[in-house]
Amino acid sequence: MNKHIKTWFDRYEDQVTAYSKKLWEHAEPMMEEYFACEETAAFLEEQGFTVEVCHCTYPERKPNTVVASFGSGHPVVAVFGEYDALPDLGQDTVPYRSVKPGCGHGCGHNLMAASAISAACAAKAAVEQEGLKGTIRFLACPAEEGGNGKLYMQQLGLFDGIDCLIGWHADDGPLTGFEKMGLSIEKIVFTFTGKASHAAKAPEMGRSSMDAAELMSVGVQYLREHISSDCRIHHSYLETISKANIVPEHSSVYYVIRAKDLEGMYALAERVIKIAQGAAMMTETQLDYHIESALPGTLIVTSFTKFLCESAQKIPDLTYSQEEEEFAKEIYKSVFQKEAEGGVLSTDLVQPDGVVTTNYASTDLGYITYLIPTGRLVGLGMVKKTPVHHWALTCTAGMSIGQKAAVYVGKCLAQALVDMLHNPEQVTIFKQEHEKLCKGQNLKVVMPK
Ligand SMILES: [Zn+2]
Repeated sequence: MNKHIKTWFDRYEDQVTAYSKKLWEHAEPMMEEYFACEETAAFLEEQGFTVEVCHCTYPERKPNTVVASFGSGHPVVAVFGEYDALPDLGQDTVPYRSVKPGCGHGCGHNLMAASAISAACAAKAAVEQEGLKGTIRFLACPAEEGGNGKLYMQQLGLFDGIDCLIGWHADDGPLTGFEKMGLSIEKIVFTFTGKASHAAKAPEMGRSSMDAAELMSVGVQYLREHISSDCRIHHSYLETISKANIVPEHSSVYYVIRAKDLEGMYALAERVIKIAQGAAMMTETQLDYHIESALPGTLIVTSFTKFLCESAQKIPDLTYSQEEEEFAKEIYKSVFQKEAEGGVLSTDLVQPDGVVTTNYASTDLGYITYLIPTGRLVGLGMVKKTPVHHWALTCTAGMSIGQKAAVYVGKCLAQALVDMLHNPEQVTIFKQEHEKLCKGQNLKVVMPK
């Protein structure tokens, strides 16, 4: 490990842990990360960064986004954190479900923010001590949980000029390079307009928008049998009337359509649109739809992922106490209603195999990975086999199990930032591989408004 990184962590580890805990205690939903933004900006200012804050979507609101820089010129190596929490996932740090009102860090974003902020600060210390050329940038990204925060940040130019971007997410397995490509995702709102009428006295005068919406769901259900297994379609009802004695005039449904790539996603969306048109025809209603957003999945630069893990290898292993392991086993028992066989806390680092597989989820990072070579580490901080968006992660994210992982990964990411500045030719290699992957791809997207 770089000695300046070690020195920085020896001095500031407790502050990193305290920062992560504060974010956990003040868990905020997407687009309202005001406390997290203030804490983050203050931490970075004290560490000597040039700090900018803003609201990524609503300029009139309090800031929820932080961009901090240190150094000058290229390469510009950046590390990003997220810090939004999830509704209804508030939880005490006890090994069973204990509901705390409000949001909770059930995706561990308070840990992610802590790893990223400490990585940026420790790397800055090395840059200063060694007189390295280049720029360290830190981005605190709001609204990952369905809010498309990074896309608004991109439209504000906050990702401009970055050569390489790195980050980490907690997961139930060992630490490794993230080599799963997320799905492309399109969001469409379908609105049917019929004719209102008394449902009993004059049903023949009515044309039901809700019938159309329901028939659309039936049609899509039949469609699901004839799509490839890596596609996903889900929907929710947005609007209809609650009175059963009126034929509903307006009904809206929200569809989320996912596929392996943009081309497949658009083709599938066309089929869903045809079904909506059919439903409108069957019910003599009028269909309107608008595409809220259409965005690609994540691009994986395997040379970058491998590099991150090589940097991580230079960091002394993560260790947990017997007490922490026992606590984690209690969580496992609560979640699965049975005793765990063997250990349930990962501490290993596993080198990635360079084989890109599919992750059946989507993230606002997807589009960014087409603009900037992005490398991510994933793993640690969670109890084995438990999922994200779960109280078990809210629990470990608020205590030493998550905090130790965040500090350890902070060191790994700091080492990677410094290694890139020591070897700027590596950055060129990542950029070349990235360019090759992007070549010939038609990046037709619809940005959220
Ligand atoms: Zn997450």
